[in-house]
Amino acid sequence: MTNFDVVVVGAGLAGLTAARAVRAAGRSVIVLEARGRVAGRTLGHRLSDGTPVELGGQWIGRTQTEVLKLVDELGLETFPTYDDGAAVTLYNGTLTRYADETFGLSAEGAATVGRLRQELEGLADTVSLSSPWTSPAAAELDRQSVGEWLHTRTSDTEALAFWGAIIPALFSAEPAELSLLHFLFYIKSGGTLGNLVSTTGGAQELRVVGGPHLMSERLADQLGDAVRLNAPVRKVSQDHDGVRVDFEGGQVTAQRVIVAIPPTLAGRLVYQPALPASRDGLTQQMPMGSVIKVQVAYPTPFWRRAGLSGFGFSLDEGLSVTMDNSPPDGSRGVLVGFFEGAHARSAALLPLEERRVSAVATLVRMFGPEAQNPVEYAEQNWMEEEYTRGCYGGRLGAGVWTQHGAALTEPVGRIHWAGAETSDVWNGYMDGAIRSGRRAAAEVLGHQEA
Ligand SMILES: Cc1cc2nc3c(=O)[nH]c(=O)nc-3n(C[C@H](O)[C@H](O)[C@H](O)COP(=O)(O)OP(=O)(O)OC[C@H]3O[C@@H](n4cnc5c(N)ncnc54)[C@H](O)[C@@H]3O)c2cc1C
Repeated sequence: MTNFDVVVVGAGLAGLTAARAVRAAGRSVIVLEARGRVAGRTLGHRLSDGTPVELGGQWIGRTQTEVLKLVDELGLETFPTYDDGAAVTLYNGTLTRYADETFGLSAEGAATVGRLRQELEGLADTVSLSSPWTSPAAAELDRQSVGEWLHTRTSDTEALAFWGAIIPALFSAEPAELSLLHFLFYIKSGGTLGNLVSTTGGAQELRVVGGPHLMSERLADQLGDAVRLNAPVRKVSQDHDGVRVDFEGGQVTAQRVIVAIPPTLAGRLVYQPALPASRDGLTQQMPMGSVIKVQVAYPTPFWRRAGLSGFGFSLDEGLSVTMDNSPPDGSRGVLVGFFEGAHARSAALLPLEERRVSAVATLVRMFGPEAQNPVEYAEQNWMEEEYTRGCYGGRLGAGVWTQHGAALTEPVGRIHWAGAETSDVWNGYMDGAIRSGRRAAAEVLGHQEA
């Protein structure tokens, strides 16, 4: 059969959740996935001894209720991210060990960061999650980048260095690349800044046993033949009778289509008739972040013996954030680390071996000489992935929310939009992807013919 009620483009969490909801409502559905695998921005990997590590999205927080529900429904389990002991921060060549909320900053730097954080949280409270462009001060907040705003608020170089590292840690982009309004929206979408950056009590609290890609694999198993791999969609046409979706290898027709891929990739499909200018204007201006995620394995989690949690934060180095990513039984030591934003772009120019050497050198500075000899190194450069083109997700620079924001989720005729970027709650996260899939499915099911 090549005619369906609904066709879904993309078999990440958003697309698969949408397809499952459509199927559950008794409608026929097909999911077209470009890659030879499902799960998109979540990607499982096994170290040579079989230890699973995550090369894409991985952590779940307790307020991410939709993803927790899905984990449970699919018979998967979570375990706590290792978070005992002190953290370390590298700044100006000095390593500081700390066990409080200061991120190892000087008293003055920490006070300035705290003041700005309060100001940001206060501003975030004023933002409308469902339509940020209608927030009371939307024009003012969207006129400037976070970088500009920070520079009007402080000249403290340490505080600026802190924000210059924490913002890429959240967005894989530089403060100058991000609208203040978008940053505030994102904070509110995840609850608070504290939620976003914390392990215990925050967005990094839990991991999925075996890896979160298993959610998509199990959803795809349930959908069976309805998921078609190696089927990159190239064109979406619609008229008063329905939609036609052309992919490499064929075409299908349906009443409605849910496009569940990052907005910038959605903008690269051909649409017949052409999309409204507002939608195209949006997708022209919603780039993905830049990140290379690395997993570095050791015989044991040796840093734990020194009372360290494995959380490392560097305001100096390319590898700017690390965490303990060992298996639950600690049978092997794994540190996960990230090159983000500008660091990711420059690290990507290095040969793999030089990047590995650079990552390991940072780990040695943070955790001592035992970090010098990992038994294994794995990495994923998300910028190079043809069907992702960067992570963690799409972001908006100054001016875009207020000019084009409404086009992010507004259906265009028979075309509906899903994906982590389109969620108002936990935007950019796995939880947001699931919510967006549900929302898009409800949209199409609300139309009699689909
Ligand atoms: C390194 C990294 C770390 C992250 N960390 C976390 C984390 O700790 N916690 C968290 O919650 N989130 C995290 N995220 C974000 C999270 O992974 C994503 O928000 C979520 O997986 C997005 O799901 P999605 O379904 O919206 O999009 P995707 O997963 O991108 O799915 C889109 C699918 O569409 C396919 N596709 C693309 N183009 C086409 C086409 N033309 N035709 C057909 N198919 C196409 C893709 O192959 C893909 O399978 C991280 C992401 C990365 C990369």
